[in-house]
Amino acid sequence: MTMQSAAPRAKRILMVGAPGAGKGTQADAIAKQFGITHIASGDLLRRHIAEGTTIGRTVEDIVNKGELVPDSIIMDMLRKPVLAAADTGGYVLDGFPRTVEQAEAAYRTAGSLGVGVQIAVHLEVPEDELIRRLLARARGADDTEDVVRHRIKVYEEKTRPLLDYYAQRELLIQVNGARPVAEVTWSIVVQLQRAFKRSNTHASGARQATTQDRAVA
Ligand code: AMP
Repeated sequence: MTMQSAAPRAKRILMVGAPGAGKGTQADAIAKQFGITHIASGDLLRRHIAEGTTIGRTVEDIVNKGELVPDSIIMDMLRKPVLAAADTGGYVLDGFPRTVEQAEAAYRTAGSLGVGVQIAVHLEVPEDELIRRLLARARGADDTEDVVRHRIKVYEEKTRPLLDYYAQRELLIQVNGARPVAEVTWSIVVQLQRAFKRSNTHASGARQATTQDRAVA
């Protein structure tokens, strides 16, 4: 690496959880707490759709059905905001990676930037609570119970395997997301602070001790 900017110290936090688990809300709170940038792939996609851009027109149907948008579109869309955030302290990514393939691609990009610690936060919420939350906030006409159930199925099949991926390779923080918002935030913040401290102490890059602490904080 020749160019070492602020990136090596950047905090890179990834939120993993089913639709309705509270990733967006918690990502916002974490971003404020640590002074870093919240980047939500779903929000960016919805903005493209609302603005009728080329990306928006390409993905509209896919998003409305609750399927996954092709990796190439997601990677292109995220590259700039992620690089900018990595240079200004770091980011909380919410909604990406969504598959092991996306995680591997993200890991390669991050590795080539020489950026520091990466931590995945898993928000666990029981399925009936997810469905209750998702139906209560029903985003648009297409958010019927069928679409909601399909989104959760896609999560179970495509995204849940990420948890093993992170448990084996990097830090994975497990949080019970079925509690009141402030309690969940507190639990995440406490565990992140511990993990950052550990990573500063060991200072050996991203591949180090794996933690799977059940959140009791
Ligand atoms: P979210 O707001 O994160 O639930 O995302 C809403 C929708 O955007 C998803 O149901 C997918 O259709 C699409 N989407 C968001 N992030 C990704 C991603 N990383 N990979 C593929 N599709 C995505």
